[in-house]
Amino acid sequence: MLTKRICKLLPAVSGSLALPRHGINVIRRRMASDPTTETTRFDFLVVGGGSGGLAGARRAAELGAITAVIESHKLGGTCVNVGCVPKKVMWNAAVHAEYLHDHSDYGFDVGNVQFSWETLKAKRDAFVSRLNRIYRNNLDKDKIQTIEGYARFTDGPEPTVEVSGRKYTAPHILIATGGHPSVVSDAEVPGASLGITSDGFFELETLPKRSVIVGAGYIAVEMAGILSTLGCKTSLIIRQSGVLRNFDSLISTNCTKEIQNCGVDLWKYSQVKSVCKTDRGLEVTLVTRDPEKKDNMEKISTIQEVDCLLWAIGRQPNTSGLNIGKMGVATDERGHIIVDEFQNTSRPGIYAVGDVCGKALLTPVAIAAGRKLAHRLFEGKKDSKLDYSCIPTVVFSHPPIGTVGLTEEEAIKSRGKENVKIYKTSFTPLYHAITSRKSQCIMKLVCVGKEEKVVGLHMQGLGCDEMLQGFSVAIKMGATKADFDKTVAIHPTSSEEFVTMR
Ligand SMILES: Cc1cc2nc3c(=O)[nH]c(=O)nc-3n(C[C@H](O)[C@H](O)[C@H](O)COP(=O)(O)OP(=O)(O)OC[C@H]3O[C@@H](n4cnc5c(N)ncnc54)[C@H](O)[C@@H]3O)c2cc1C
Repeated sequence: MLTKRICKLLPAVSGSLALPRHGINVIRRRMASDPTTETTRFDFLVVGGGSGGLAGARRAAELGAITAVIESHKLGGTCVNVGCVPKKVMWNAAVHAEYLHDHSDYGFDVGNVQFSWETLKAKRDAFVSRLNRIYRNNLDKDKIQTIEGYARFTDGPEPTVEVSGRKYTAPHILIATGGHPSVVSDAEVPGASLGITSDGFFELETLPKRSVIVGAGYIAVEMAGILSTLGCKTSLIIRQSGVLRNFDSLISTNCTKEIQNCGVDLWKYSQVKSVCKTDRGLEVTLVTRDPEKKDNMEKISTIQEVDCLLWAIGRQPNTSGLNIGKMGVATDERGHIIVDEFQNTSRPGIYAVGDVCGKALLTPVAIAAGRKLAHRLFEGKKDSKLDYSCIPTVVFSHPPIGTVGLTEEEAIKSRGKENVKIYKTSFTPLYHAITSRKSQCIMKLVCVGKEEKVVGLHMQGLGCDEMLQGFSVAIKMGATKADFDKTVAIHPTSSEEFVTMR
């Protein structure tokens, strides 16, 4: 019963086990050990038991392939253990804290509310452990062999992977090893290693009192929002003038405002110069050079008594220990595996999906690419590949952001300014009509051509996280502004603004 309910929550662990197996062109081969080379052979060998690897392996097994998954850490990968799932639990907790502010405006007297990070962490960790077990059970049910350990390609001529001294091979090998947080070395920034990364955030045993977060991407924004909303005095250090700079400019500008609205102390044009440990916590020294200021002088400041310094400065692919170069698997200058639209690497029979490829680093992308690949390899669907256009994304900021398709800037670049029409609005959601705490809702539609095809939709505001999926379907289907206008509004909601924009 519990398993079923959790499966509903997480698409990555759901999926029918009883799909019809028509059209399978797999050469059914039992898992076999070759006594001459002592190599165990499968139809499909997956390196990495995260979102993409598990999805690809399970779909391949459903389609009849004898499959194994190699995982060096915990099944479920980044998303389940140190990403989407625990992050969303923390965001939910932060949303509770926001609503608590509003309780008295809505007539509730909730008295002296206490928050226990320890309780929250214990429940979150227990949930994640349950998911780890469910993933393991699902693999067992699908007769997929789980191999625990770190995989490395051997130097032999046939692509073969070695784990703890044992060798494994298959005609089809999928690399789905994901990535890890980038770190700054002590040589670059003295004392940098006194900080943690997003992985360490999920190990924090208590709510920090004073945190400094470095980075302007979505992970920095989400973690700053969570900590600040839960009551930790939080500073966010960014090198430029705003956060989320690769998002639509409206989102970037508004989120930069909202992050301060939720109590985060934002340090623009700043970088960490050094970190040192004192008996009252960390002392973080910053250097700020604000080009907007006339003197443009470098200013040195320190933030003291910091008990959590968190680097959220990007992620790197897990490829360095794989020995893939010898296999002829090409990587880019950052180590991402280069794949074509069918997830083929430069070495026939070796494929890659998910974060390790460095494109659209999102769980549903890794899952969809893994499944599409399985259908191509084991169901004979030659054209099966993921369409990477119009991928919807939510940032769990406060309030949340939803975005799909082209930004205004991208649309102008690809279609020319004269062919782009923008519709936008900004308002205070009805929820805030009677609250002293306020947040704005902003929305933008990017339309192109005479027919005003909607190619981008961007929003930040209460409920935007859950609002996005449906609009993404419409946009993927090629909806025009006229289609939006023809749709009757749902009142009173924030989403109705999208069908009443003029
Ligand atoms: C803090 C944070 C929040 C996030 N929030 C979201 C979100 O809200 N929504 C969303 O869609 N995405 C989110 N993501 C991104 C998402 O987690 C990733 O895009 C997704 O997990 C990628 O899946 P993957 O299969 O490519 O890699 P992973 O899930 O990282 O799995 C790779 C697996 O391979 C294993 N591995 C690595 N090397 C080896 C080896 N040599 N041998 C054996 N095993 C190996 C690793 O241990 C790992 O388990 C978040 C990420 C982070 C860090």
